[in-house]
Amino acid sequence: MKYEPVIGLEVHAELLTKSKMFCGCEVVDSITAKPNRYICPVCTGQPGALPVLNQKAVELAVRVGLALECEIHTESIFARKNYFYPDLPKGYQISQYDQPLATDGKIRIETEAGPKDVRIRRVHLEEDTGKLSHADGHSFIDYNRSGVPLLEIVTEPDLCSPEEVKAYATKLRAILRTLGVNSGDMEKGVIRFEANVSVRAAGSDQFNTRTEIKNLNSFRALTLGTEYEIKRQSEIYARGGTVEQETLGFNEATGKTYSQRGKESAHDYRYFPEPDLPPLVLEQSWIDSIRKSLPELPEAKTRRFIEQYGLKPQEARLLTSEKALADYFEVVVSKSKSPAKTVSSWIAGEFMRYLNDLNIDVTNIPVPAEEFAKLIDMVTDKTISGNAGKV
Ligand code: ADP
Ligand code: MG
Ligand code: ZN
Repeated sequence: MKYEPVIGLEVHAELLTKSKMFCGCEVVDSITAKPNRYICPVCTGQPGALPVLNQKAVELAVRVGLALECEIHTESIFARKNYFYPDLPKGYQISQYDQPLATDGKIRIETEAGPKDVRIRRVHLEEDTGKLSHADGHSFIDYNRSGVPLLEIVTEPDLCSPEEVKAYATKLRAILRTLGVNSGDMEKGVIRFEANVSVRAAGSDQFNTRTEIKNLNSFRALTLGTEYEIKRQSEIYARGGTVEQETLGFNEATGKTYSQRGKESAHDYRYFPEPDLPPLVLEQSWIDSIRKSLPELPEAKTRRFIEQYGLKPQEARLLTSEKALADYFEVVVSKSKSPAKTVSSWIAGEFMRYLNDLNIDVTNIPVPAEEFAKLIDMVTDKTISGNAGKV
C-alpha cells in the first residue's frame, strides 16, 4: 500500500524586544553573553515576584498575526502551563491557551503542483525557558533566556511532504525577518521547529495517530527528521503495527528519531488563567495603526516584481526570498539603463553563484549597486563582452 504524510508544524520564534516578556531584564545573545547575568526575581520565579507585560512584545506579535492574515482578538488570556523542568524555575510557563492572540491565518507556499495555502491555526504569546546544557557529567543552567518573549505559530495539518515543510518554514522565516520581529538566526536557536507527523493510506481523509518531533533547529534537521519519521511510520503500518502517540527527539548524527516520552495531553498541564495578569485587551485603533505600518511582504513583493519588472515567477521568487537581495536588485535596476529582466538574470544567475561560492551573505553584498549597474550596462552596450563581464 502507498502511504501519504500529514504534517502540522509548530514554530517558536523569539521576538526582537530589548527587554523580556514580563520583567525589565535585557534580552541578550544566548551564546555570547555571560550566563545568569541578565536575570531578576521575576524571570527566576522567586516567590511573590509579579509579571508586568511588555507592550513591544504584543506589538510584534500583532504584526505577525496581521501579516499571516489572522483574526486578531481584541481580548486574549494568558494561561499557566504547569510542568516541572529545571529550565523552568516557576514550575509553569506563562502562555496562552484557549483564548490566543490570533487565529485562522494562512501562508502561501510554492509546491510542485503550484501555490498552496497552508492554514495557520493560531499565533500566541508565551515566554521562553532557561537553557539547559550537559557536559563532562555535569548539567548547567543559564536563566538569561528565561522569560524572553516567544511567539508560537501553529499550522493546521496541511503539509504533505518534507519539501512542503521546508517551503513553509523558509517562507515563515522570511516573513518574520521582513517584519523585523526575529533575526532568523537558527544557529542561535531564536527560531525552532516542531513537526507533528502522521501517515495514512494515500487518498484517505482520515487522520491517524501522530508523533511530535521536538527541537528541529535547522532546515536540514527539519527535513531529515520528517523524512525519517514518515518512513518509520509507513513501515510500521506496512507490517500491520500501530504507531504510538509520543514525543520524539531527532539525532542529527544518526539521522533517526528517538522516543523522549509518551505524549502529554493538554489536561496534563492543568492550564488555568494566569491570576497575576489581567486579560490582554487591545484597542482596534492600535491594531489598525500596526496594520498600516506593515512593510511589503515577500508574497506581495514577488507579485509586484513579476508585474512591474516583467520577471519570471521563479526569478522573482528568488530575488524576493531575502529583503536585502530584493532591495539590491531594485537599486541596481534604478541605476542601470538596461532592462530589468537583464538585471534580474545577472543577479539571479552569475552573481548569486559568486556570492554562494564565496559564502557571502546577501545582507553584506560587497559590490556597490552603482558599479554593478555600470558593469551590466557595459555588457548591454557591448562595450565589453558578456564573458568579460562575468569574470
Ligand atoms: P497539541 O496542542 O496537543 O500539541 P494540536 O491538536 O494543537 O495538539 O496540534 C498540534 C499540531 O499537530 C498542529 O500543528 C496540528 O496541525 C498537528 N496535527 C494534529 N493532528 C495531526 C495529525 N493527525 N497528523 C499530523 N499532524 C497533526
Ligand atoms: Mg504541541
Ligand atoms: Zn528578569
